[in-house]
Amino acid sequence: MKKYNFNAGPSILPREVIENTAKQILDFNGIGLSLAEISHRSKDFQPVIDEATALIKELLNVPEGYSVLFLGGGASLEFCMIPYNFLVKKAAYLNTGTWSKKAIKEAKLFGEVVEVASSADANFTFIPKDWTCPTDCDYLHITTNNTIYGTELRKDVDAPVPLIGDMSSDIFSRPVDVAKYDCIYAGAQKNLSMAGVTLVIVKDEALGKVQRTIPTMLDYRTHIEKGSMFNTPPVIPIYTCLETLRWLKKSGGVEEMNRRAHERADLLYAEIDRNKLFRGTVAKEDRSLMNICFVMNDEYKELEKPFLEYATAQGMVGIKGHRSVGGFRASCYNAMSVEGVKALVNIVVCCRRTMDRPFGRQDCLIAFHPYMTGFIH
Ligand SMILES: *Cc1c(COP(=O)(O)O)cnc(C)c1O
Repeated sequence: MKKYNFNAGPSILPREVIENTAKQILDFNGIGLSLAEISHRSKDFQPVIDEATALIKELLNVPEGYSVLFLGGGASLEFCMIPYNFLVKKAAYLNTGTWSKKAIKEAKLFGEVVEVASSADANFTFIPKDWTCPTDCDYLHITTNNTIYGTELRKDVDAPVPLIGDMSSDIFSRPVDVAKYDCIYAGAQKNLSMAGVTLVIVKDEALGKVQRTIPTMLDYRTHIEKGSMFNTPPVIPIYTCLETLRWLKKSGGVEEMNRRAHERADLLYAEIDRNKLFRGTVAKEDRSLMNICFVMNDEYKELEKPFLEYATAQGMVGIKGHRSVGGFRASCYNAMSVEGVKALVNIVVCCRRTMDRPFGRQDCLIAFHPYMTGFIH
């Protein structure tokens, strides 16, 4: 049966990206050696990093004066590298969920942190709107897409200080005004590649302002100077990233990705909104296009388990919600097809119809049957 991959991360990649990577792992560029067993400094690998860098600059319209880096350590290491390299005295953070909180925790090791706003009291079900950022902060850190809670800042915030953005789970899903940012970072395993590489786009002249001594590996300048080759970079994830970028360009770039993201999300949210069994978990205006979170309404709570089992049996993978939210989460990254979302919508529709007998489909009825007494009116 066809499987639809709704995993939150690591997550779906275009099939051709996986296939092309697999080929290069077997025989890189026809040289008779695997991509896994050649030097990162060889003349065959340098063009991979060069082309990936050029495509990132082209696709995101990165202005002059920015460097593109491929680092290890995941987005989580950036939580520490950001304040190490940018926090002189005071930094502002918008607290919109688990990942923001982790970034804030690290920043506090380096200086004063102003939490400009937080939706923690409401279990991060919305993105705070009316807040101001002190003008004497070194930067404002935002998490553009909250992978766990399913909220998203879909446009670049206006702030009186430079922005720093954790875009791990929505990078390349929309155009970004890079000039507003001193730094953008993204762990690759949500929208770009397999786990193992982190993309960093950093403004050169924003560096070198802190007085503290920065360990060599944690200093962005080390990696800028050495073209991401100070130490051995994760060559296979970087190669996969290149293949994804080629696919992105061929598919119409970030504008087209954004159009597709809206198309997918509109289909699923519309059904959740009309379906009496389910409800979305976050404020409508802040809904993520990437991670669509929904739960069953209280009176149908017992149906969550059979719904998950039924959907899984129909080929839906990874739709169980994160434990902090419960219910379901359908992650719809760039590579997710509209067809995949339609397949999921069909299942949700089928459950609604089953509850409105006599339109129920037989297999869905069977899945729900042991739980249905009390629901049929
Ligand atoms: C997954 C994720 C992270 C953590 O990424 P790692 O690469 O596992 O460290 C950070 N921020 C956001 C928004 C994420 O989705």
